[in-house]
Amino acid sequence: MSEQFDVVVIGGGPGGYPCAIRAAQLGFKTACIDGWLNRDSSTAFGGTCLNAGCIPSKALLESSELYHRMQHEASAHGIGVGKLAIDLEKMQARKQTVSRQLTGGIKTLFTANKVTGLHGYGKLLGGGQVEFTAHDGAKQTLSAKYIVIATGSEPVNLKIAAFDGERIVDSWGALDFTEVPKSLGIIGAGVIGVELGSVWSRLGAKTVILEALPTFLPMVDAQISKEALRHLTKQGLDIRLGAKVQSAKAGAKGVVVEYESGGEIKKETFDKLIVAVGRKPYTSGLGAEELGVALDERGFVKVDAHYKTNIDGVYAVGDVIGGAMLAHKGIEEGVALAEQLAGHHTQVNYNAIPSVVYTAPEIAWVGLTEEQAKAKGYEVKTGMGSFAPSGRAKAMEQAAGSIKVIADVKTDRILGFHMCGPYVSELLAEAVLALEFAATCEDLALTMHGHPTLSETLHDAVLAVDGRAVHAINKPKK
Ligand code: FAD
Ligand code: NAD
Repeated sequence: MSEQFDVVVIGGGPGGYPCAIRAAQLGFKTACIDGWLNRDSSTAFGGTCLNAGCIPSKALLESSELYHRMQHEASAHGIGVGKLAIDLEKMQARKQTVSRQLTGGIKTLFTANKVTGLHGYGKLLGGGQVEFTAHDGAKQTLSAKYIVIATGSEPVNLKIAAFDGERIVDSWGALDFTEVPKSLGIIGAGVIGVELGSVWSRLGAKTVILEALPTFLPMVDAQISKEALRHLTKQGLDIRLGAKVQSAKAGAKGVVVEYESGGEIKKETFDKLIVAVGRKPYTSGLGAEELGVALDERGFVKVDAHYKTNIDGVYAVGDVIGGAMLAHKGIEEGVALAEQLAGHHTQVNYNAIPSVVYTAPEIAWVGLTEEQAKAKGYEVKTGMGSFAPSGRAKAMEQAAGSIKVIADVKTDRILGFHMCGPYVSELLAEAVLALEFAATCEDLALTMHGHPTLSETLHDAVLAVDGRAVHAINKPKK
């Protein structure tokens, strides 16, 4: 006998669990199956994000930044801190506590919303049925009108630098180091590379990041990414662009990495090597191919504008459908799908997805770069605001970075915001709202910003578009 549900969600990460909760809130009898197992074999909802991604990385970024600021900034504030020491075991325990408080929170939300949470694996059987296998091997069949695939993604494993879990690790391994490596190599200067590189470099690892592309964070506006690169390099991160890794061989003394740069073959030995060259969709054991769920050439589940796959009653959201591999994009899709199943008209605005790299300074953006806007045929105007003259940033001892706005000359409409600086992750919300509301530069120019706040720099950027910024670094237009 199979248990009957309205909605069964397979995967309890940011794509899956909000979908399940929203579906239940809308009156659907809902189950969420999640297979995540922690290293200590404990189960937890929350997927990669809460267990081995967004949250643990942010916990370590916060701890390591605090350490770095105490080392480098405390004396400027007139605070003597003596000799600082790192208790990595305690730092890691705090990280785990933060994660587990949040994963425990999902359990509470499931109970409060009457979602049946099941720990184990889900497999599509066809005909509206899912086979659930608990971690102890017990099997059960669930039936549902709507089945949602939210099985997420996993790290790309390079043949030339295969993970061994010891010397050559993925991002999860790199979050769990029990000692600060003396030397650390990272393949890929993407988001994971620079965030985890920042963590371990601040804690004392001599860190080299090898990036195949000639440009740093190419999705960020070139002016801002160049500025961010300068700040990160000054902090001690050795980011080598145009460095194509050829091989990585782990031995007793470390990992020997060979890479090609400027036509030369170079060699470097590291204690540990993190491979952070992207993530790929995870559909292993799901039964998607057996059922004939259409996948694209890279293995992502194909969906239409309403997250429906080619199989009736089967939907998909989150990393497994591709696009930006971000937790908030998965959350929005999961919620939109639940609401659409209930007959609502919720839509996700893919033109206003916020992106943040949690380095110091932080890097954040939404919408088009200047280059992308020009390529799309816009006549572009831009404005730059600087944190250098910001009273708040100076008081924080963090007066570095800039905000750039990209706008359409014809309509004055804002097309993008790209920024690096203190807490730009938080300032980004205003920028996203501007894009969501199709705001013009004039709309934001007329919006009063508190003083002294970091948001004044965003205001300066918008005013600078027409040469009106009082603290301008643009030449004012007459
Ligand atoms: P996942 O979170 O991967 O969840 C999928 C879940 O499904 C997992 O629990 C998995 O075990 C389970 N599952 C898979 N197959 C089955 C099956 N057959 N049956 C049952 N369960 C199954 N994004 C941000 O927005 N901000 C950040 O700061 C950020 N930082 C990150 C840092 C790191 C180190 C990493 C690796 C990622 C980070 N991300 C960040 C990306 C973010 O984690 C993902 O975009 C997000 O987790 C995707 O959500 P998802 O639900 O699609 O997939
Ligand atoms: P990424 O796509 O951001 O970066 C991978 C980098 O590796 C690219 O710059 C690529 O050019 C480089 N690369 C690929 N092959 C290489 C090779 N052989 N040698 C040298 N460089 C090589 O991927 P990621 O950093 O692994 O992150 C994966 C996903 O996780 C991303 O989609 C990201 O959105 C998400 N994530 C988000 C956050 C955040 O929002 N703050 C944090 C971490 C991860």
